Amino acid sequence: MRHVHTRLRIPFLIAPLLAATPTFSAELPWLARVDGCTHEVTSALLEHGIVVSQRLGDVGLLFADATLPPILERLGCTFAVLDADANLHEHYLVRDDAARLEAARPPLRLLDRVDGTAIVALPRGDVARLLELGVEIQKLFRTPMRLPRLRPATWRDADVASSSAFIHALVEGVSADSLQAFVSTLEAFGTRNATKPQSHAAAQWLAAKFRSYGIDDVQIRTWSTTYPGNVVATIPGRVAPKDVYLVGGHYDSVAPEQKLEPGADDNATGTASLLECARLLAPHEFAATLRIVAFSAEEYGLVGSEAYAARAASSGENILGMINLDMLGYLAPHDRLDLDLITNSPSTWLRDAAREVAATYVPDLPVVNGKLLRGTSDHASFWRHGFHAIFLHEDSTQPSPFIHTMDDVTGLSYNNPELHALCTQATVALLSTLAGAVEVPVVLHSFSLHREADAVRLIWKLAPAVRIQLASVGVQRAETEAGPYARLGGALPATRSEFVDLDAPATHVWYRLALRHRDGTESFTSSMGAKAYTTRTALDGVESASHDGSIRIRFRVASGAGRLRLGIYDVRGRLVRRLVDATLAPGDYLQTWDRGDVRGRTVARGIYFVHLRSLDARSTRKLAVQGR
Ligand SMILES: [Zn+2]
Repeated sequence: MRHVHTRLRIPFLIAPLLAATPTFSAELPWLARVDGCTHEVTSALLEHGIVVSQRLGDVGLLFADATLPPILERLGCTFAVLDADANLHEHYLVRDDAARLEAARPPLRLLDRVDGTAIVALPRGDVARLLELGVEIQKLFRTPMRLPRLRPATWRDADVASSSAFIHALVEGVSADSLQAFVSTLEAFGTRNATKPQSHAAAQWLAAKFRSYGIDDVQIRTWSTTYPGNVVATIPGRVAPKDVYLVGGHYDSVAPEQKLEPGADDNATGTASLLECARLLAPHEFAATLRIVAFSAEEYGLVGSEAYAARAASSGENILGMINLDMLGYLAPHDRLDLDLITNSPSTWLRDAAREVAATYVPDLPVVNGKLLRGTSDHASFWRHGFHAIFLHEDSTQPSPFIHTMDDVTGLSYNNPELHALCTQATVALLSTLAGAVEVPVVLHSFSLHREADAVRLIWKLAPAVRIQLASVGVQRAETEAGPYARLGGALPATRSEFVDLDAPATHVWYRLALRHRDGTESFTSSMGAKAYTTRTALDGVESASHDGSIRIRFRVASGAGRLRLGIYDVRGRLVRRLVDATLAPGDYLQTWDRGDVRGRTVARGIYFVHLRSLDARSTRKLAVQGR
């Protein structure tokens, strides 16, 4: 290990005037340690274009060259060159475990130690030697860190105070069985080591799972030829799509020199929680955008999350908060079941929000402020690029001792599915609170009645956000629209979307749905009339619904109507939204338009036209849409 010390002091305010032009970072020959690298000094160095890679407390780790000393002298900082041939090496931060590091063989070099963290150097591409030590590693990247952003102006602590039936229903949707099934599928890859082909297969599987939940925007974003990409699934916001809340966790695994690298707890648990979040949140709408990211190559030094965070920072992605999920399924003997929240000081608001939300929606899960004694994880990449991030972890003092071995399996290392499910519930609650659930969605997307011989078949589609809040659905019939309505049969499960009324009178009758909510209250959908018989296809009525501002379009379809297209057009005849394009069974229909255009944006107030076209009919109705 080599050191160079200088002790000159001059006021640092004039520093910007003397800014030096930085050399291209790959060639910077030095890895230097700067003491007294406070927030102000860091910001001055970054302004100078100095590559401050990482800060450990007030110790800065920089990639630099001979232009550095005069700048530091002006800033009154002392420094040491830890590696004078840094451009030939890769550098990592690892937990300062003397026994393991003593066992470290050249060419791995221990350069320095800072508060329990060791700084080591390795020839480029030789990281496997470090992994053999079985420690968590964090790569020192040659891109400058960023200063923390300000807390999002849009966030008010009060936002977590109120509880919502919708979010309670979402949280109750978390399934321990589903989580365990995901973990065992990920384990079954045998390995998800980022340098092995199975990891690519795991990425493909994850992308397919995200798509299967109805998420359109799913990408595998690669940044290197060495490792598979990050799997990125996006649920676009309806109100503030540029505001992003991100939940992530790494899907790769490692167990050096062992046949199998199952990584059940580390980190099939976190990855499984990402899938469960996607399964539950994808059907719903949120004000802000939700991004779910499975990171690659975390075990090789947070490489995947660094690639993501660096790109997000340089492309201006407005990530307001990042939630990292890593190791959520192990409980040490005699330890209390709880969730550890790890944060840095700029992200404290996010940690406090997580604590409050967990108390509201997951009261069975005690939450503690954790402090990592060893290792790190993908949240650190977001801290490095100035984003606010928190880390949800099984336990910072007694995490699974089986990680990075072939014993990281279900039953041994992943030994507490209840903890896993509760942590996932807390994550679902936090994400939907942060992103702002779009409350009062359109209740009934569509409702249709079909006369079949002496029966009437009812088919309906409820908004997912409503359906999950329901205990049951009932069907009611009346002779006139105003009622009185009589219940037909018993309560149906909320997932049902069809019912056949075998005693339907041949005359014109009316139907509606009775929605029994989990809180015991009951509400009714708008009613639909089943005419005695339908002779011709036509639009029957267009009206706006007072309670949710949606537009209800009633039409009837006669047999032989063929392909039917129902659309909304603006005054210039341009298609704003296609609502139906199908061959429908004869019957009476109600279709709801939520005033969204093809891109899901709410249309401006004004005059629009509802146009129906089929083989046997063409009809149009004018419609006035009120204020946006
Ligand atoms: Zn991990």
